[in-house]
Amino acid sequence: MRAAVVAEPYHVEIRDIPKPSVEANDVLIKVEVAGICGSDLHLFKGTHAFRKPPAVLGHEMAGTVVEVGKNVKKFKAGDRVTVEPQVGCGQCRYCGQGLANLCLNKKVPGTPSWVGTFVEYFVAPEETVYAIPESLSFAEGLMAEPLAVAVHAVRRAELKPGDTVAILGSGTIGLLALLVAKAKGIETVYCTDVVDFNLEMAKKLGAKAAIHALREDPVEKIRSWTDDVGVDKVIIAAGPGTIIDQASAITRRRGRITLVAMITKPIPVYTYSFVFNEQTLAGSQTYQSQDFEEAVRLLSTKEVDVSSLITQELSLAETEQGLKMLADKAGNIVKIVVQP
Ligand SMILES: [Zn+2]
Ligand SMILES: [Zn+2]
Repeated sequence: MRAAVVAEPYHVEIRDIPKPSVEANDVLIKVEVAGICGSDLHLFKGTHAFRKPPAVLGHEMAGTVVEVGKNVKKFKAGDRVTVEPQVGCGQCRYCGQGLANLCLNKKVPGTPSWVGTFVEYFVAPEETVYAIPESLSFAEGLMAEPLAVAVHAVRRAELKPGDTVAILGSGTIGLLALLVAKAKGIETVYCTDVVDFNLEMAKKLGAKAAIHALREDPVEKIRSWTDDVGVDKVIIAAGPGTIIDQASAITRRRGRITLVAMITKPIPVYTYSFVFNEQTLAGSQTYQSQDFEEAVRLLSTKEVDVSSLITQELSLAETEQGLKMLADKAGNIVKIVVQP
């Protein structure tokens, strides 16, 4: 079967690889769409923490079941599904608390133990497979994965009704966090970005205001809109080197800042601001199964509508082009999907 492989940094090849075999607990899925995500860019550039070239791209997908192993109960050929792309070891203290995202031995696609999703056929254990209804397109179905990241971030952010919120960065995760916050009844969400298209999207999806972080000063704006108090909660979904200090400066005393952006280089932080204002900084990594389940539910009930976020559909052969578009932010891009 065909697969999109990062052969070396900045170079994708379409290679022929063996179709996966189906074990007793496995579901074999014909991939209808796979999504390009920020972490695929890291693999493409050769900067990913544990996915190293040569590797098959992708961890987001939706498709049609073609075959199931003999122990599989919940699925049959023809079902429309998406996959939570992580399997915890099931043994460690984190797995014991339902925190497979923090498992030290978790299995994820795009590594030697599990091939990536930019393939014609993807195999996944039954427990990671979720049905998607006819009312959702496959592309909307694959959005369950990034939406689960946003659901988890919003949960880590401890948003409560009546909170004022700022989301720094309006890429896929920032916009999805906005949609989740709105679905939870949060009325006041300020968004920032440095691309006009993304700011327009944020406005369209319900942001109270969308601030261009280079043309305006988000700190000055947000403080002026909150009587110089600052917002209750901030979610950071962008990675410039000044972002933590900016977040601290727009958060009220005892406020909470949640970091979902993966900033892999050290950046300076003015720690005294956290002490003086008794602020909390929390990290948010991927999602737990309960978040993935919630993401599928939000999509299925249309409480969250992601259709406008799918901005490009490409063929598998155009994968490298899609990665370059995303790297250069060339054009109006939120989520690019490819059809193997
Ligand atoms: Zn993703
Ligand atoms: Zn574990």
